[in-house]
Amino acid sequence: MIFKQLFDTETWTYTYLIADPNSREAVLIDPVNTHIDNYIALLDGLGLQLKYSLETHVHADHITASGLLRQRLGAQTAVSQLCGASNADIQIQDGDIFEFGNGEQLKVIATPGHTPGSISFLWRDRVFTGDALLIGGCGRADFQGGDAGALYDCITQRLFTLPDETLVYPGHDYQGRWVSSIIQERTTNPRLAGKSRAEFIDIMGNLNLPKPRLIDEAVPANRYCGLDEDERQDAIVVRDANVPVRQQSTAQDLVAAAKQHITEVSISTAQQLLQEGNIVLLDVREESEFAAAHIDNALLLPRGVLEFKYGSLPELADKSKAVMVYCRTGGRSALAAQSLQTLGYTNVLSIAGGFEAWQKAAV
Ligand code: FE
Repeated sequence: MIFKQLFDTETWTYTYLIADPNSREAVLIDPVNTHIDNYIALLDGLGLQLKYSLETHVHADHITASGLLRQRLGAQTAVSQLCGASNADIQIQDGDIFEFGNGEQLKVIATPGHTPGSISFLWRDRVFTGDALLIGGCGRADFQGGDAGALYDCITQRLFTLPDETLVYPGHDYQGRWVSSIIQERTTNPRLAGKSRAEFIDIMGNLNLPKPRLIDEAVPANRYCGLDEDERQDAIVVRDANVPVRQQSTAQDLVAAAKQHITEVSISTAQQLLQEGNIVLLDVREESEFAAAHIDNALLLPRGVLEFKYGSLPELADKSKAVMVYCRTGGRSALAAQSLQTLGYTNVLSIAGGFEAWQKAAV
């Protein structure tokens, strides 16, 4: 087998290449967008065909190369269905198996806690743990929907129960260490060895780490497989691994489906509701669009980070309160309205035609 551990010196991220030398099929785990040309050269040089580009989670510290690898090499992208990355080709679930080469299997183990959608991949005698279990540490659990209790449970119950000799390949290391093993982590990891669940939660609650430098850029981008803003609208695709790519739904289908489940209001109704007050107005476009111009009193909550950040807005604490969302033309806001309904909001409206229609009406 071909196995390579690659390192990004900017973000201390490990990327893994696994390939079958006979069939030439390859898999990448956690590729970084700035290395796209290196990956392509490496695959070319080894005569490999990239079948899958897999993510252990939606990263906050680097942007994935998955979308680019799909565009340039036709690889299938995959991320946990709990990550809210709707344009990945495959929405991964716990227990899924990715097959490649001559009978090679990568088995998915759900390891939530760093993020709700964090997963590990088990291949032969090695496990790729992303940011769940690190060497002598673990991923933080204080943002992106993190949950220290869940992290303790999955590490102790699902990873530490793997055979002792299983090799642990993490998503990062900041001290130049490359690999560990289950027995080493179970017996020496200072956050976990001999620690109770309560002690672990206490440790994790007192790390006082700074916010990741790239989070506001990386998390929204990674939910679109790392593609740029202007490429995303066309790239929003929900794909089912069992359906040929050509038959799969497009962004338009996705928005049309969302519109069946939400309530749209006209510009005049929106204006009237805002005049009456007692309604939260959310702009779900990107930060740069909001900064250029927005409706008075609108709060910014980009659709790409909606599920991660809605909890930080006190205006959204009461889920029965009326909420009205808008974007540029009404597509993203339809998806956002549907997400808010799924999160339990009972009175959600989307402005038909979005900010463009609003501006036209104001002329
Ligand atoms: Fe992470």
